[in-house]
Amino acid sequence: MSVRPMMNRDSQFFWDGTAVGELRIQRCNACEALRFPPGPACPDCGAFDRGHVVAAGTGTVFSYVVHRHPPVPGKELPIVIALVDLDEGVRMVAEVVDAVSDETGDAEIEIGTRLRVDFNRVDDDLTLPIWRLDTPRPSATRRPEDV
Ligand code: ZN
Repeated sequence: MSVRPMMNRDSQFFWDGTAVGELRIQRCNACEALRFPPGPACPDCGAFDRGHVVAAGTGTVFSYVVHRHPPVPGKELPIVIALVDLDEGVRMVAEVVDAVSDETGDAEIEIGTRLRVDFNRVDDDLTLPIWRLDTPRPSATRRPEDV
């Protein structure tokens, strides 16, 4: 048995997104404010008119913990749980995979580490977002004036 996230009317769009490989962020259609976690009303303007945007799927570690014990059902320890600041400006909890060295057991993550989302299909009803270290390739490194 593994832990399943809560799904309800407010978060269904998020899980519909992960199922098709999209990380969706709720957006107020009235004032365009982004928010996470999703909810029925906009905390900025109070509107109930909700939409969403598809995030780029990249962000920066705000803080993190390495969980080594006690055991977690359905998980192989250690696991890294981070708070990630998405480039769109919202913060969410992220499970980061492949972030602990097999040899030393040391976390290969720190505050400010860049992460990129991936998706772990659990079953027909559930696809979980997971995060990996976003290691820039040399060809992908561009200075602002090259953009
Ligand atoms: Zn609003």
